[in-house]
This record gives sequence, structure tokens and C-alpha cells, in this order.
Amino acid sequence: MNNPQDHFKKVISHAKEYGFVFQSSEVYDGLSAVYDYGQNGVELKKNIRDYWWKAMVQMNTNIVGLDAAIFMHPTTWKASGHVDAFNDPLIDNKDSKKRYRADVLVENYCAKIEQKIEKEVKKAKKRFGNSFDEAEFLATNGRVLGYREKIDATLKRLGKSLGDEDFADVKTLIEELEIVDPVSGSRNWTDVKQFNLMFGTKLGASAESAMDLYLRPETAQGIFVNFLNVQKTGRMKIPFGIAQTGKAFRNEIVARQFIFRMREFEQMEMQFFIKPGTQSMWYDHWKQARLKWHLSLGMGESNYRFHNHEKLAHYADAAADIEFKFPFGFKELEGIHSRTDFDLSQHEKYAGKKLQFFDSEENKNYTPYVLETSIGLDRMFLAVFSNSLQEEALENNSSRTVLKIPSVLAPYKAAVLPLVKKDGLPEIAQTILKDLQWDFNVIYDEKDAVGRRYRRQDAIGTPFCVTVDHQTLEDNTVTLRYRDTMEQIRVEKKELSKIINQEVATKNWLNKL
Ligand code: ATP
Repeated sequence: MNNPQDHFKKVISHAKEYGFVFQSSEVYDGLSAVYDYGQNGVELKKNIRDYWWKAMVQMNTNIVGLDAAIFMHPTTWKASGHVDAFNDPLIDNKDSKKRYRADVLVENYCAKIEQKIEKEVKKAKKRFGNSFDEAEFLATNGRVLGYREKIDATLKRLGKSLGDEDFADVKTLIEELEIVDPVSGSRNWTDVKQFNLMFGTKLGASAESAMDLYLRPETAQGIFVNFLNVQKTGRMKIPFGIAQTGKAFRNEIVARQFIFRMREFEQMEMQFFIKPGTQSMWYDHWKQARLKWHLSLGMGESNYRFHNHEKLAHYADAAADIEFKFPFGFKELEGIHSRTDFDLSQHEKYAGKKLQFFDSEENKNYTPYVLETSIGLDRMFLAVFSNSLQEEALENNSSRTVLKIPSVLAPYKAAVLPLVKKDGLPEIAQTILKDLQWDFNVIYDEKDAVGRRYRRQDAIGTPFCVTVDHQTLEDNTVTLRYRDTMEQIRVEKKELSKIINQEVATKNWLNKL
């Protein structure tokens, strides 16, 4: 699985084959960019959500939760700027009739140059062997510096043209870079146009009285409009945060890459309300805190990087993405945005109500500034899933497919397996299952040879297999098999819960850093 494209195909098929992710409405040939989570997927998704919630809400006394409705008063979206500015720049290819996001075409062009840099590094590594210093090579090699310069200049120009809404220049840039349609190979492009991403719907019984609504394109606005409700009823003092997880909807034009870009997806957002003037300090704080959260899962430090935004959204004075190395390259996983007082001020203006905080130390009212952390749950799912799926060569010339999901996130923490379906072994296995179920999600399997059952558990990422055999009848011990090392040890039944807990407890993961 060295080839990233092959790996990505394998990720998609494995997700389906093992009950993680299904295409929505598959019996009707599916609905594009909409997905359902199956019996294992829903567990992994829930565990990621919980891991986030615990880190953000449970472990911070000054952050509380919220569950706002998906439907919101339509003026919300006028105030937030989404009606006027939540657009993607679109370009059509006249020959293939395919539609693309103009900015994505340019970004993909840059990603290809990035791949060339990676190739140069690989070549040099081979040539210089042990004496190779990658950092120095990247900083001094003429060819690499040329590539880097090209990427920087291109992204800078793209950022400026988009920021100035100069779409003619975006098209010129695409022409100058000689970007071709990946389908037709042609350079016959239309002009770049704006396209609003919000889904509209109607609320009300009759056509005349119905009110035009939008499905929320982000969860953040539900937090802003509830800022005073939470602050007053929770007697919160600045700085404090409100966290929320929930569905968001965007009519994405280029909705490919599996669950990376969906039309219906789930966000995990936290808005941190702060004193004006402290935003730069909190911006740095949350960038580091969120990166730490990711690193706590042990999925490889080199798989993450920050991307600081050149082009800032209409509400932000600073913004960065935490990018993850997906099978198709480094892409945004989470955004950290310094949103100023834009949202609260806009809602004050449109609602005609004050949304301010009385600072008793300073004896004055002010509209707080906001620092946002916003991560896509589905994208996080894809990051975990694609990073964990491995094809491992074994000593006896065979191989196994194993999902090395961080065990704190694994759908099942243990599988209980009676070696054979007789001699009272299933009954003992059932009592072990019933006992462990109080603390963990545990699965039971008695079909097929035990080796095949181990493989099935490897494929869904279960960190432990507990096998009950004839020795159990004699001395109350069982075989405990570790997913990652395949090591098997003999332990007492009564020790199981403690051993499993030690490995999967949130505390032991979040505390790692
Ligand atoms: P992109 O540039 O990839 O379209 P964005 O900058 O519009 O993303 P934000 O508005 O900052 O994204 O949303 C916050 C997070 O929500 C993103 O970091 C991403 O993880 C997730 N997200 C956004 N759009 C989608 C989508 N269509 N499908 C799945 N997750 C998404």
C-alpha cells in the first residue's frame, strides 16, 4: 500500500466492507457526497466526538456545552455575512462541461509542485545516505527553493485576487499556469463566477406564508446568538468558551474525496470569548492546545502542519489551519480563527439588542472578541481511519489487514472469544462479556477458527482479544491478545478490566503530552 492513491481506494472499500461508512441511499444508487455511518463507524465517530468533548468541556471549567437547533432565524445568516459572502469561486470547462472550484484548481497545481519537492528529497536521501540533512537540503537546494518560490508566489496571488474579489485575475492565473481540466485535458475555461453554498428550505404550512430558511452552514452562529443566555445563566466570566457539536450543511460543488468534503457533515466547534486586545495571545494558545490534542493520539507528528492564511475570511483578523497528511496530501483538518467582535457586533446590529459583557474589574461593558476552534468530525474520522489502516507482512509469508486505531477511539475495546462452541466455554465467555460491558463496548464472536476471528477484530481495530479455552476451566485464566503486536499473554479473568482500562482510558491518552 505504498501508492497513496491505492491506499485511498483501500480505505474507501475497507470502510464499506467492515460497516464503517456507506454511501447514502445506496439502494437508489446513492446520493453524491452524502454518507451514512454503519455499526462500527458510528462507534468510532462517537468516540472521536467524546474525546474532543472531554478535552474541551470536561477538562476546562471555563468551557461549557450547547446544543442549538439546526434551523435558525433567517436574519442570522444575513448578519453573519453568509447570505452575501459564503460563496465559492466556480469555473466550468467548456469541453468536459465539468465544474470546478477555481481556488482548488490552483491549490492542486501547487500540491503537484509540492510532490516534486518530496521527490527531490527522496532522491537526495538515497544519494547521501546517513549523512543526509533534510532541513538543510530544503533550505539550500536550488531546485527546491525555486519550487517553493513558485508555490508561495502563486498562493499569494490567489489569496490577493480572491480577497479583492478580482475573479478575472483568478481566471488569468489559471490560464497563465496553463492548468488543464483533469477530465478533458483542455484549457477552454469559462469566466470565474460566485456560487452561494447555503441550502435553502421553507418553514410554514402554506406557500404564501412560508418563511425562507437555511440549513445552517456552520454551528458557530448558534453559539453567538446564545452568548448572553449562557453567560448570564451560567454566570460565566470572560475568558470563557461555549462548545458545540452538530450537523452543518453546504452545497459543495466539488464534493469528491469520500468523507473529506460532504454536503451534510458534522462540526465540533468552540467559541472562546475574550477581552478585546488579548486575541493574539489566545490565538497562539489555542493553536498550540489544539495541535497537542491531535498529537495526543500518537498518529505521527510529521503528519500535521500549520497553514497560516493569506486570505482572511470577512470575519477574521488571523487564521490558521491544522493540516493533516491525508492519502491525497496535506489538507485542512481544523481551523483556528481569530474572529474579532465581528459576529457579536453584527447580531447586535441586526437584532437591535446589546450582546455585551460587564467586566466588573474594569467597571465597563464591552463586546467580547472571539477565538474559534473548528474541526470537522468526519474529516477527523477520515484522518484516523486512513492513518490506521495498514497491510502488514507477517513472518510466515502471509499478511494481515489491521486497523491500528488509537485504542481510546476504537469502536470495540475487546472481543471475547470462546475457543470452541462447547465444554462450557461459551458460557464463561458470556459472563466475561457481561462483566466487561459495564465499562467498555465489547463484542462477542464464536464463529470460525480463532485465527480468523482475530483477523476480523484486527480489521475493525479491536485492541484486545480475550480467548477462553480449556485451561480457563482449570485456573480462571484467559489468553489476552494485543492487536498491534499480536503478542499473547495469559492473565487472570479478574485482571481483564484493569488491563484494558489502562490501555484505553481517556486520561492516559490526553495526559500523554
Ligand atoms: P475547506 O477550505 O476545506 O472548504 P473551510 O475552510 O470552508 O474548509 P471551515 O468553514 O473553516 O472550513 O470549517 C471548519 C471545519 O469543518 C473544517 O476544518 C473541516 O474540518 C470541516 N468542514 C468544512 N467543510 C466540510 C465539508 N464539506 N465536509 C466535511 N467537513 C467539512
